[in-house]
Amino acid sequence: ARLLLEGRRALVTGASSGIGLAVARELARAGAAVAVNYHSKAEPAEALAREIRDAGGQAVALGGDVSSEEGAVGLVEGTVSALGGIDLLVANSGIQKDAAVAEMSLKDWEAVIGVNLTGQFLCCREAIRAFRRGPGRPAGARGTIVCMSSVHEVIPWAGHVNYAASKGGIHMMMQTLAQEVAPDRIRVNAVAPGAIRTPINRDAWETEEALERLLRLIPYGRIGEPEDVARAVAWLSSDEADYVTGTTLFVDGGMSLYPGFVGNG
Ligand code: NAD
Repeated sequence: ARLLLEGRRALVTGASSGIGLAVARELARAGAAVAVNYHSKAEPAEALAREIRDAGGQAVALGGDVSSEEGAVGLVEGTVSALGGIDLLVANSGIQKDAAVAEMSLKDWEAVIGVNLTGQFLCCREAIRAFRRGPGRPAGARGTIVCMSSVHEVIPWAGHVNYAASKGGIHMMMQTLAQEVAPDRIRVNAVAPGAIRTPINRDAWETEEALERLLRLIPYGRIGEPEDVARAVAWLSSDEADYVTGTTLFVDGGMSLYPGFVGNG
């Protein structure tokens, strides 16, 4: 059988750990050639690229800071020159710098907006430019983008105003871009993970007490794994999802279903 993403070329940002790493691995397993972006840690990205090549796939590790214009431009250019073009972008890079509002510095506000929102904007813009330059395909999308959002695009999150604002911004950015580029047969969607076991939220799952508290927020009764998100991204990026654009797919075990209302009247 033909693989889901056979012949497609992908850039995954922030792919040296967590969700991005699992996404890059899953896209490769589905037949895509993958540019594995890292920011500060090259080794895990190089190791994944080697793993993919050893399994007969095509992959390259690319360093770059998505929050800078040169960084984002360089990543899309680097993907095009290493893989011969680009068909899929997964704008995944994201950071948290948590503080109560009265203690939140402008620097920490700007850092989070800079990576999570401006970084995704820059990568989307560059990918759309590159998709339009490409020859296109006889059927299916000319290019697809998946933005990594969060349940916090809809769930307010005290003590994380910079992060929640960035994810709320991603939601409207994604929908606006989807509307704008649909006539070019470019699809833009988002995935909104709930609580996924990665380094970004280690405090929420590392100890038994923390995990127990977390599980009260998850009707499905388990923490998510990066692979849960990766499979959703692969599907959204594929022609199986050809009529899907401007949508956020929640991958959250029901975290966005107001679990506090269970047993309340
Ligand atoms: P993570 O910390 O493992 O991954 C974040 C990645 O972003 C890292 O690889 C890091 O190198 C990269 N990054 C940071 N700054 C960058 C920059 N300036 N340029 C390029 N890359 C940069 O955490 P994760 O959980 O895998 O997070 C991935 C995405 O998933 C983020 O957007 C995060 O907001 C989102 N998310 C995670 C969860 C969760 O529960 N883990 C839930 C919802 C959303």
